[in-house]
Amino acid sequence: MSVIENLIKPAHLIDMKDIIREGNPTLRAIAEEVSFPLTDEQILLGEKMMQFLHNSQDPVMAEKLGLRGGVGLAAPQLDVSQRIIAVLLPNPDDENGKPPKEAYALREVMYNPKIVAHSVQDAALADGEGCLSVDRDVPGYVVRHARVTVDYFDKNGEKHRIKLKGYKAIVVQHEIDHLNGIMFYDRINEADPFAIKDDMLILE
Ligand SMILES: [Zn+2]
Repeated sequence: MSVIENLIKPAHLIDMKDIIREGNPTLRAIAEEVSFPLTDEQILLGEKMMQFLHNSQDPVMAEKLGLRGGVGLAAPQLDVSQRIIAVLLPNPDDENGKPPKEAYALREVMYNPKIVAHSVQDAALADGEGCLSVDRDVPGYVVRHARVTVDYFDKNGEKHRIKLKGYKAIVVQHEIDHLNGIMFYDRINEADPFAIKDDMLILE
């Protein structure tokens, strides 16, 4: 049975055992573009990836399945070298502690996502980044574009163009990097991990 066939079995819930870790060469490969129409396997894989993110953010399911929380997942992390990512970014509670009107700031499975334009300004998360494929803390600012325009296709083969800034832009860039064999720590200044270049935005 192929890796994908195993992942998309109806009863299968993706868990940490399905996620490959740094050192596996698939994480350093350039993933293949998908072609349209997508196969049923590719559509189901996208759905399973999104289901994983939902489970990872659900305290009960995360505990049951032993999941680390995640807001994004790229197919190469499942040892599938195809250009597919899933992003699930919850909105925070409002200032009164009530749930937000829109539960998610971004909830999307993207096929062949591509950065087609970006700001000159850079940005980094104040607390650095983590990755489900990296079982250690790597401190430092992960230098990324502050704003990006991303083209991608949905499961129906329809093309979308979105403009992202802030945390959304960071997460999507992290996932697209996985399609190009780039790990987040590649973007940390090795000599000075907390160096702030020019007008780099630090996102709290
Ligand atoms: Zn990652």
